Amino acid sequence: MIDLHCHLDLYSDPAQITATCKDRGIYVLSVTTTPSAWEGTARLAHGADRISTAVGLHPQLARARHAELEIFDRLLPLTRYVGEVGLDGAPEFQPHWDIQLAVFNHVLKACSNAGGRILSIHSRRATAAVLGRLQAYRDAGIPVLHWFSGSRRDLECAIDLGCWFSVGPAMLRSRNGRFLAALMPRDRVLTESDGPFAQDKGTPLMPWHVDRAVHILGELWSVSAAQAQQTIRRNLRALTMLVPDLRSAPR
Ligand code: MN
Repeated sequence: MIDLHCHLDLYSDPAQITATCKDRGIYVLSVTTTPSAWEGTARLAHGADRISTAVGLHPQLARARHAELEIFDRLLPLTRYVGEVGLDGAPEFQPHWDIQLAVFNHVLKACSNAGGRILSIHSRRATAAVLGRLQAYRDAGIPVLHWFSGSRRDLECAIDLGCWFSVGPAMLRSRNGRFLAALMPRDRVLTESDGPFAQDKGTPLMPWHVDRAVHILGELWSVSAAQAQQTIRRNLRALTMLVPDLRSAPR
């Protein structure tokens, strides 16, 4: 199983969830919402070679934490993965739009200077703006749009830009989410939980709940769940080949 967007550090018992992921052999991209959370979160995954920890600065925290871009720059050489980053256009975050943009631009520029990264990107109510930034920084690496919720036209633009997608059970619960997922290129789709933020009936989704997304993708693709899982596994391998491994601490 593959969970390409999970906030391991934010579960009520991160060590236990991480241990379960290790036992089950789940590939996890453990994203962070602030650069200062990276070291502790990476430590959680110590010795788990299927868990990678991304350095991020969540757009909803851009205003409060922009000073941590210094830490971001210091950590970037240590990891091949960046996230959660992006833009959030919801009304409560609109007042911080300029600082969100400044942070996201900084991140993309740094990634581009560093030779490219795999980026897990938030684009709620801001798809067009996110795509505009990605267009401006084509060398930032491989963007993976997590929980895509734009229009069909935005999706077409994202596909043209070379974006990948991570989809989870929460997104696939809605008819529109399934509609969009069905239009995504099958060789650029990965699964995610987005736990513990994403929930099911008031309970946080766990990394192993990606199996629900695999099942639905199988239905959308008219293949068995096992075949869908194989495709997703192949996609992960292809994705990691697109961005060079780092000589030091490739996590
Ligand atoms: Mn998230």
